[in-house]
Amino acid sequence: MSQRVDPELMKEIKQYGAVGLEKCINCGNCTAICSLTGEGDRFPRHMIRLAQLGMRDELLGSKELWLCYNCGLCSETCPQGAEPANLMAAARCYAITQYAPLKISVLFCKHPVIGGLLATLMVIFFSIFMYGEREVMHPDDLELFGFIPYEFIHNAGLAFMVLVGLISALTILTMMRRIAKINGLTFKNFFTGAHKHWLLAFWEGVVVQSLWQKRYREECDIEENRKAWYISKWFVHAATMWGFLGLLFATSLNFFLDIIGVKETGTFVQLWYPTRLIGTLSGLLFMYGVTVLLYKRWKAVDKAHSFSRPSDYTFLTLLWLAGVTGFIIEIALYLPGAPTWAYWMFIFHVAVSITLLLLLPITKFAHSIYRMVALYIHALRPISKQETAPASTD
Ligand code: SF4
Ligand code: SF4
Repeated sequence: MSQRVDPELMKEIKQYGAVGLEKCINCGNCTAICSLTGEGDRFPRHMIRLAQLGMRDELLGSKELWLCYNCGLCSETCPQGAEPANLMAAARCYAITQYAPLKISVLFCKHPVIGGLLATLMVIFFSIFMYGEREVMHPDDLELFGFIPYEFIHNAGLAFMVLVGLISALTILTMMRRIAKINGLTFKNFFTGAHKHWLLAFWEGVVVQSLWQKRYREECDIEENRKAWYISKWFVHAATMWGFLGLLFATSLNFFLDIIGVKETGTFVQLWYPTRLIGTLSGLLFMYGVTVLLYKRWKAVDKAHSFSRPSDYTFLTLLWLAGVTGFIIEIALYLPGAPTWAYWMFIFHVAVSITLLLLLPITKFAHSIYRMVALYIHALRPISKQETAPASTD
């Protein structure tokens, strides 16, 4: 396959936060030290090589970008200070802008200050919009869905979810098309052919590796596991992800129960009601994970957290605000009477949540989608071997 070379690629990736990649001498130390590289994997050294040589299509069509968990070990041990972990993170941000159908993603990934301002404006806009939709503020019972009508939130939430689902599907298709292109595959090869059965690959890639993060826990996090488990990288990352998924599950189940009429809208819900209990426990896990992640970035505790950009803070701050406002509202629900501030907190909470939802497929948040797809494809082993084809870059 002919390979197009773009001398501007390295400069471009640097605009997404990469530092020091020109110092790399291709020694391979980083690939040897990375516990996540298996047979046929060549990251992060190969990713740096592709960036240095300007091989854009190969870089964007590599599933290896998404197999890295940014543990920072390769950067700690690079003899040249080429910061390979940082390159992987910057290249992922670059890839998100290239896969996303809306080029607005460039604002969040390449110009993080502007992206942060835009996210703030979105929160203000949605707050004002909902303020315009408000109805009566009940002084005795905290009737949040009487203040902002339930139908309004339900319909708006549904419309935004469909929009985000469509954009996510388009970005996944683009990613898979790029992977297929550099490997000389057809789209069908991802589901049929001489690979491992796709159901087995789904189990291994999505459930075992992506949701449970088995290899990350057992191999990549060894150094950290010697410390207390609750501050290990694996647990903090897993707590954030599981907490988020648990909140999503509890909200969706609540929606569903409302639709089928099991629970009356606006009815007072006890703490031990299943969806409330799942939501509360997931929220605690989520808040713990996000708070520790913010702290680690703020203190730059290691190489993996030393090159934080405003976009990293925007994303984490929005998650943190969504979590903390959710808890404040929950506490208000159990207080006597109906505190006025809880109504305003509700508006703010919904505005932050909508902003997060809309930013899901076009910001760093999108790595959760791409990693799942990449791990699924990685589990189809024969494709990994074909990906080692362009030997000339070595
Ligand atoms: S990034 Fe560092 S360790 Fe990796 S190949 Fe380059 S010089 Fe070697
Ligand atoms: S940051 Fe960690 S997981 Fe990523 S390439 Fe480096 S050593 Fe491997």
